[in-house]
Amino acid sequence: MSSVTHLECSLCAKKSEAGKIHNLCECGGPLLVRYALDKVRQTWSRDRLAQGPNSMWRYAPVLPPTAASIVSLGEGMTPLVRTARLGARVGADDLWVKDEGLNPTGSFKARGLSCAVSMAVELGIKKVAIPSAGNAASAMAAYAAAAGIEAHIFMPRDVPQANYVECKAFGSKVTLVDGLISDCARIVSAGCQTEGWFDVSTLKEPYRIEGKKTMGYELAEQMSWKLPGVIFYPTGGGVGIIGMWKAFDEMEALGWIGAQRPKMIAVQVEGCQPVVRAFDKGEPRSQFWDNAHTVASGLRVPKPLGDFLILEAVRKSGGTAIAVSDDELIDAGLQLAADEGLFIAPEGAACVAALAKLLTSGFLKRDERIVIYNTGSGLKYLEAYSSRFPR
Ligand SMILES: *Cc1c(COP(=O)(O)O)cnc(C)c1O
Ligand SMILES: [Zn+2]
Repeated sequence: MSSVTHLECSLCAKKSEAGKIHNLCECGGPLLVRYALDKVRQTWSRDRLAQGPNSMWRYAPVLPPTAASIVSLGEGMTPLVRTARLGARVGADDLWVKDEGLNPTGSFKARGLSCAVSMAVELGIKKVAIPSAGNAASAMAAYAAAAGIEAHIFMPRDVPQANYVECKAFGSKVTLVDGLISDCARIVSAGCQTEGWFDVSTLKEPYRIEGKKTMGYELAEQMSWKLPGVIFYPTGGGVGIIGMWKAFDEMEALGWIGAQRPKMIAVQVEGCQPVVRAFDKGEPRSQFWDNAHTVASGLRVPKPLGDFLILEAVRKSGGTAIAVSDDELIDAGLQLAADEGLFIAPEGAACVAALAKLLTSGFLKRDERIVIYNTGSGLKYLEAYSSRFPR
């Protein structure tokens, strides 16, 4: 099924062979998977999608694993919900929430880890390791359990309780680290040298992004192949933005969409906003954000590896980068819950808060079609929301 031709470095464009185990390019750049889209285009069409599975694997011809290796728990095909009451409140007439909280393990990380673990199976990898702010760990633990391979997980000690309990329940080896995801990443790198683990860190392996790009395919399909004017995305490692941006280019090459692109809005938090700072300064890369802190744990990424790709997508799209405070995002999340019946993750809630700001500032107009990505379920963040509801 797979139509992969090779992997290509996103920094130096050097090609690497498909079907081999890869982490970063020798220059340190993340590798991106390339497909024979001209051939795919002749044998597959968007009209045939409905015959595929009701999961992200309906896009299998543009995903790396062969059918026999796929490890699936039903990820993808999440609801795209029209949120008219919130829209009326903030002054947006055509507002939608893509609710990724309904994925296995309650976050969009399921997409990336389903794809990465499938490829680990295909390449014969038996032990995987991951540094995670929380949800990537839960997803990897689940898919590693489903695949019957060993998972080693490193998370900050103050990770949400749900992530810790899930990883333990799925039978992973869990280490809580006094530090941030960047500290966890250093431990994983060292362990990969000494323990024979395969490093599944964001963008340090080439396949999580391929799973995440299906958010872009799916949005286009759900919107009848007309992309929205604006996409809000809560940006930690930024793989969702980079992946969707890649998906848009691929779909254009397949003849499924035209050249129009949504304005990509990268949303961060005041306590950790390296991408916003780089965007405002007009710089191509971000600087490490010191003392990163926020209740939106998925956004606590002080220095995204793919920062240059995030910034390029945001700039080319005519979008922007914006930060909100923890108080603002919790307020916005609770407002959305009461207005619409959607209990979303603080990361998604940050986008709701950012939306109101960009409408007020005039950056966005009320008649634009706007999609907010809610990347996780509010149920995974009971600590963060409980502060508002003492018993
Ligand atoms: C990981 C995570 C993010 C950040 O995702 P990236 O695509 O890496 O920027 C946002 N929200 C939630 C709930 C997450 O788990
Ligand atoms: Zn390179």
